Amino acid sequence: MLTCLAHPDDETFGMGGTLALYARRGVQVQLVCGTRGEVGEMDPELMQGFISVAERRESELRCAAGILGLSGVYFLGYRDSGMPGTADNHHPNALAAQPTLEVATKVAHYIRLLRPQVVVTHDPIGGYKHPDHIAMHRATTLALELAIDPNFTSDLPPFKPVKVYYQTMPKKLLRWAVRIAPLLGMDPHRFGRNRDIDLATLVQEGDFPTHARINCRSVSEIRDEATACHSSQLGGSIGRKGPMAFLRRYLGNTETFMRAYPPPEKHLREMDLFEGIDGT
Ligand SMILES: [Zn+2]
Repeated sequence: MLTCLAHPDDETFGMGGTLALYARRGVQVQLVCGTRGEVGEMDPELMQGFISVAERRESELRCAAGILGLSGVYFLGYRDSGMPGTADNHHPNALAAQPTLEVATKVAHYIRLLRPQVVVTHDPIGGYKHPDHIAMHRATTLALELAIDPNFTSDLPPFKPVKVYYQTMPKKLLRWAVRIAPLLGMDPHRFGRNRDIDLATLVQEGDFPTHARINCRSVSEIRDEATACHSSQLGGSIGRKGPMAFLRRYLGNTETFMRAYPPPEKHLREMDLFEGIDGT
């Protein structure tokens, strides 16, 4: 299984349960990460012993990867682009500023190298419209085409994964969060640690079908442990307080995915991303 994501913490916050579950079932779970999360805001105290935000966040990712049981972590070497409208979007190495083909070429290399049966990436709006998530979604989608194209130059032979999924935000949770946020003194239009997530719009625009629901109850403690690794992104309270913790707590034990390939039949309801694959 190969998951192609934008930042350190994307592997844990949205799909940590799923990754941990498959790793424990003996699946080799690999991660391609577009950036090192350079733009993540951080308490200066947490920078002790680190020379940069990127170094700190890479170490957090390696901690989480160990706990989740990932077999490998590969960085594409781009820079975190921050949220829409910020100056970080225009940094020459910003992931979101790169031509999709260039990023896709790198992702296609890993698809051919690692030969995953299942590929997972962000959904078309990047979960909550983060430009880097959208960039990784587009690059991975194109990379899947490149990986099977015999004319795509690479030392590695063409390879086609059996299944491809996009991780989606659980819709019920989103609707519920929009309703309850004001009761907790939060603005559903300005949600998240950096107040830059508009939950109300996501309910409409992120209305993707759910084709697979993965029950992660059996690994919820592992996911919590991996979450604690990303302490710089948890508002300094190891995830027990703050808006993101609120969201996470109510994510429950189900992680949801939309199937991109093979094209899903109507009302598809899978409980396992490897359903239908020989030997599982
Ligand atoms: Zn992210």
